[in-house]
Amino acid sequence: MPRPTRDLLALRGMGTAELKELLARSRAMIPAAMGRTDLSHILKGRAVGLLFFEDSTRTRLSFTMAAQRLGATTLDLASGGSSVSKGETLIDTALNVEAIGAAALVVRAKQSGAAHQIAQPAKIPVLNGGDGKHEHPTQALLDALTIAESLGRSAAFDLTGLSIAIVGDVISSRVARSNIAALSALGAQVIVVGPPTLAPKSMSTLGCKVEHDLDNVLPTVDAVMMLRVQFERHGGEGSSGASGGASHAAAPAKPPITPSSIVSVRAYREGYALTSARAAMLKPHAVVLHPGPINRGIEMDQDVADGPRSAVLRQVTHGVAVRMASLCWCLGIPA
Ligand code: ASP
Repeated sequence: MPRPTRDLLALRGMGTAELKELLARSRAMIPAAMGRTDLSHILKGRAVGLLFFEDSTRTRLSFTMAAQRLGATTLDLASGGSSVSKGETLIDTALNVEAIGAAALVVRAKQSGAAHQIAQPAKIPVLNGGDGKHEHPTQALLDALTIAESLGRSAAFDLTGLSIAIVGDVISSRVARSNIAALSALGAQVIVVGPPTLAPKSMSTLGCKVEHDLDNVLPTVDAVMMLRVQFERHGGEGSSGASGGASHAAAPAKPPITPSSIVSVRAYREGYALTSARAAMLKPHAVVLHPGPINRGIEMDQDVADGPRSAVLRQVTHGVAVRMASLCWCLGIPA
């Protein structure tokens, strides 16, 4: 009897038991992700469609590596080199990649809701590789895995009693939304920190605390996740729901550095960068994360990014394990 397949579109609404199952499966994949054991029989002969309609380094390459470690080939599409530039819709593109023979689709798009829209007509599992300002589920899973491992919680993935700060451009961040959902479901207290324009009080409806004074928060937390200021998302595109979503070809977004998003890079840095001086305020065991790409010298200092507290490259390695586990989970492959 074949196991049911499923999509991985969002972590909000996912049950704690399912989250823990995905994390346990990811933990078990770490040796194979690092090439120490061979799991290339698992998806041998199958193909994973990688539909990256928006730029990506880590997510695209780590889904590629995950598919390859499981023995699958990839059907690799980048929007610049596809018929999306001729006006083909994202849904038509996706259904064509399915018709070519993909067993699963990974979708990255500027439009919030794009992966959901593609998942409706698709007959194969769809994994959200980041959609607009909405969600980035595999990123939050790799963050949760890294936090749990760094703080000795990876046996059961129970994060009760931990405080985790997410700092910066929270309003624009799909990484923050997926992390707030996952980390709080696992028992952690999530505190989002940023200027009121980037971390408005209304975000507390997501189940997190909202603070504006980073210096007050830092000494209290066990992990701090720094976010990039996403200037390219400050123009309003992809800000809510699925409107203007997958059925339209992506319009090129101009990155506006506007006074409404931050007053100036300098003022932002003064209030919200994780400088070396600020990192010294952290508890001795506290760990520093960043989803990348890092803008060194803006949201984080060089020696913090490369310092002993930094889990940044471990996050990336864990990303391969999480994507291997997610592909298997979506394709109904037993643990
Ligand atoms: N790489 C992350 C994302 O795709 C974070 C970022 O772009 O700043 O959402």
